[in-house]
Amino acid sequence: MKQSIRLGRIGGVPVGVHWSVAVIFGLVTWELATIVLPGTYGGGARPAYLVAAVVAAILFLASLLAHEGSHAIVARRHGVGVRSITLWLLGGVAQLEGEAHSPGADFAIAAVGPSTSIFLAGVFGGAQLLLEHAGATGLVVVVCSWLWQINLLLAGFNLIPAAPLDGGRILRAGLWRSTGNRTRAAVSAARAGMGFGVVLIGLGLFELFVRSPLGLWPAFLGWFVFMAARAEGDVARRQAGVEGLPVGAVMTPHPPVVPSATSVAEVLAGRVYWWNGQQVAAVVGPTGWLEGVVTLEHIRHVPAPEQATTRLGDIAERIEAAPVGRPEEAMSILLGRMDAAGGRAAVVLDPTDRLAGIVTLDDVERAGGRRPHAAAPVA
Ligand SMILES: [Zn+2]
Repeated sequence: MKQSIRLGRIGGVPVGVHWSVAVIFGLVTWELATIVLPGTYGGGARPAYLVAAVVAAILFLASLLAHEGSHAIVARRHGVGVRSITLWLLGGVAQLEGEAHSPGADFAIAAVGPSTSIFLAGVFGGAQLLLEHAGATGLVVVVCSWLWQINLLLAGFNLIPAAPLDGGRILRAGLWRSTGNRTRAAVSAARAGMGFGVVLIGLGLFELFVRSPLGLWPAFLGWFVFMAARAEGDVARRQAGVEGLPVGAVMTPHPPVVPSATSVAEVLAGRVYWWNGQQVAAVVGPTGWLEGVVTLEHIRHVPAPEQATTRLGDIAERIEAAPVGRPEEAMSILLGRMDAAGGRAAVVLDPTDRLAGIVTLDDVERAGGRRPHAAAPVA
C-alpha cells in the first residue's frame, strides 16, 4: 500500500498513513462527538465533545501504530526485515520483507501485536480507575474508558485464528510446530482466513439488508480478509512447488531480447522475433543495457487503441524494481523477494552479472505443476 503522508521513522522503519485513514479518523471522531461522548457524559458543551473526540481519535490511531510498531520491532529482532508501517482504512499494516525462520519466531512476531493492544487497554483502564479514584468525572474519564474498550476489541478481533489476522499467524506457527511443515500450516491458516472472510461478508450483507447501512463495513472487511487470505494461500502453494529447487532449474534460461522501442502492435503482428512458446522477454535500451522484463501478460493488458503507441519499455517491469536472483540460489528464497516486491518477474544474473534468465510466476507455477506431490500441500 502506498503511503500518502510520511509521519517519520520508528527504529529506522518508515511510518506513514494512507489517505483512506482520514475516513476512519472522520468516522471515529464523528461517532464519539455525536453519539458516544454525549451518551455517556451528558450536559457538556458541543466544542468540548469535539475536542475530546479528536484527542481520542488521535490516541486511537497512536494505539494502532503501537500495535504495528511492536510487530516491526519483534520481526527485526528475529532477523526479518520490515519495509514499512502504514495506517489505512482497515487499521494498520506492518509490511515484512521475508518470513520468520522458525515457528517460535513466527509466533512471537504475531503475538506481540495483540499483547501490545491488551497492554494499552490496561494503561487506559488504569488511568480511568485512577481518575475516578481522584474524584474526576469529566470527558477525560469517558475518553479513557472508550480507549481501553477499543484496544481490547482490537486485540480480540486480531486474535481470531484466521489469516491474515494475527490469530491466523499464531495458528500457522502452532501448526508449523506440531507438523514441522510451514507450507501446510500456512495453507490451513489461509483457508481459515477465507472461511472467516466469507462469514464476515455474510454477516455484513445480512446487516445491510435487514437493518442498516453499517453492514457495509463488515462486508468490506470480510472481502479484504478473504482476498488477503487467498493471496497468502497462493504464496504458500507456490513455495511448496519449488521447495528444494535452485533458481536455475525454474527460470526461463536465455530469454529472447527485444529493443525497448518496439511497440506492442509490432509484437502482436508477429513482426518481432519473440514468442515461440516464450512467455517472457528481456527488454534492452538503445545502448544495449537491460531495462526490464516484459511478459505476455503485460502485453495482453494493453488496450487495442494504445497498442501502436505503447513501447515495450513503457510496460516492462523495470530492472530497478524487479528482484535479482542467482542460478544456484534456492528458488523459495527468491520467491519470497518476488512476493515482497509485488511483481511477477525476477531477473537472474550469472556470476559475471550477465543475464542468465528470467523467472516469472508462470515459471514457478509450472515447476510446481511438475511436482504433483508438492503442489497439493493440504490433504
Ligand atoms: Zn497485528
